[in-house]
Amino acid sequence: MGQIYRHDIMRVHFTVDMEGMAGMAHEDQADMKGLDFPRMRELLTNEVQAAVEGAKEGGAKEIVICDAHDTGRNLILEKLDEDVIVIEGTAYNLGMMAGISEDFDAAFQIGYHSMRDTHAGTIGHTYSYNFAELQLNGIKVGESGLSAAIAGHFGVPVVLVSGDLHAVKEAQKLIENVVGVPTKEGLGVYGVKSLTPKRACDEIRKGAKEAMGKVGSVRPFELAKPVKMEVAFIRTVMAQYAAQLPLVERTGNKSVAYEAKDMVDAFSVFEVMAMVADSSGREGYL
Ligand SMILES: [Zn+2]
Repeated sequence: MGQIYRHDIMRVHFTVDMEGMAGMAHEDQADMKGLDFPRMRELLTNEVQAAVEGAKEGGAKEIVICDAHDTGRNLILEKLDEDVIVIEGTAYNLGMMAGISEDFDAAFQIGYHSMRDTHAGTIGHTYSYNFAELQLNGIKVGESGLSAAIAGHFGVPVVLVSGDLHAVKEAQKLIENVVGVPTKEGLGVYGVKSLTPKRACDEIRKGAKEAMGKVGSVRPFELAKPVKMEVAFIRTVMAQYAAQLPLVERTGNKSVAYEAKDMVDAFSVFEVMAMVADSSGREGYL
């Protein structure tokens, strides 16, 4: 593909999830094999396209979009502006932030949902449904905070978060002046009060343009090194296996800790822990 990136223009990274998009109330709707999926992926694509348009109105010249939900095959690429770059599938590096680097000026989070056990946050989780809680340097984070910390590692500020109001609030706690576009308000694990798709897109377009005006004034969410990562699982057996990873310490029946040299190191171990939890969870009920 040759040299895609130049250093003299405004470059924005998007991470796109699904559970936080307008209208979505149940994980079945985000499941590729689900009846509602074809419709939801189209609506999600519209939200992303709205963010692309807003970002460009605000001065973005290059946009790289990480299709970050599940196996990364959600967006309908032919419906996006033809000049964006899209990361599809399960890139092995940096998870939902695949593609991020020091070359970017800003990061967007689209379709984001809350962490698990958030009051009224819909379909809340962090990567795996087997994680009960994640803390980085003592700060409780969900996917929004985790993605922001990875962007922060590269010095890139998150300037826009759209999705469930509860995810927007999570982001606003960590990032001063981030533009939040709630497209729905989670009313419970499986309930939302939502904007219509058209209205959600209008709000995202406006928010994206506004967010581009914040580039330079919003600070990256950068964690001090080493990064202390504390993970609680929903079952004891998961912590038991996770603690077998080198340098991972068992801190409780269901919890482990790892001192990472930086955020990229922390995330690599976190992702392996998700795989360990997902496979050891099949062993039984404990
Ligand atoms: Zn997610």
